[in-house]
Amino acid sequence: MPRTPIVGGNWKCNPAKLADAKALVDAWKEKPFDKEKVEVVIAPTALHLGSVKSSLEAIGMKVASQNVGKNDMGAFTGEWTAGHLQDMEIGYTLIGHSERRSKYGESDEDTAAKVEKCQAAGLKVLFCIGELLEERESGKTDEVNKRQLAAVIPKVTNWDLMVIAYEPVWAIGTGKVATPDQAEETQAAIRNYIKEAVSAEVADKVRIQYGGSVTPENCKELMAKPNIDGFLVGGASLKPTFMDIVAACQ
Ligand code: PEP
Repeated sequence: MPRTPIVGGNWKCNPAKLADAKALVDAWKEKPFDKEKVEVVIAPTALHLGSVKSSLEAIGMKVASQNVGKNDMGAFTGEWTAGHLQDMEIGYTLIGHSERRSKYGESDEDTAAKVEKCQAAGLKVLFCIGELLEERESGKTDEVNKRQLAAVIPKVTNWDLMVIAYEPVWAIGTGKVATPDQAEETQAAIRNYIKEAVSAEVADKVRIQYGGSVTPENCKELMAKPNIDGFLVGGASLKPTFMDIVAACQ
């Protein structure tokens, strides 16, 4: 089954000012893309999201939150729920980004609780998984990815709401991109695990992005691999040339 490529832009805690975010979207307008051929989802900071949403949507992009709470509404200061995102017409959220896991102590159980809430709310998820450098060097890459996926699989009843982002932690923000063969081998193993743990049908349709130091220069070779269905892009999504990455996926 052909899978529509999906490119995500994770702005993390950038840019400094709303005016910079607006200027970036204005620059992107100059390079339109075919939204029938590639889905583009941008995750601004929570504070900028509401203000840039309509300009992103006007150029055919969708918006995502970078995080979501694991609880329902209530006494959870600083949090927001999957229901709040739906209410604000934000169709996607990231869950399990390595920075949430390593800097904010997000566990596999937390990611599972968040995925469960998103499933209940009908919210789409870019679910991030990936190994640390020492895990790759000790041959544990597939084991780590399976563990991170195994935590959420029992919570998923609608796989149409799920996209997997394979992001080797050693490649995020480091300039050290995985080679196309490394990414393909790992993503094929992820798809194979989904086949075993869920079904062949889901494994065939679920989109798996690669993330980690993707640039306009290295994306074409990665995209040529059969198990790479697009990218989750950090640093390079803060530049006008992000549209060259989008163009390489359509
Ligand atoms: C990310 O933040 O998900 C990411 C992949 O960052 P970068 O592209 O900067 O490595």
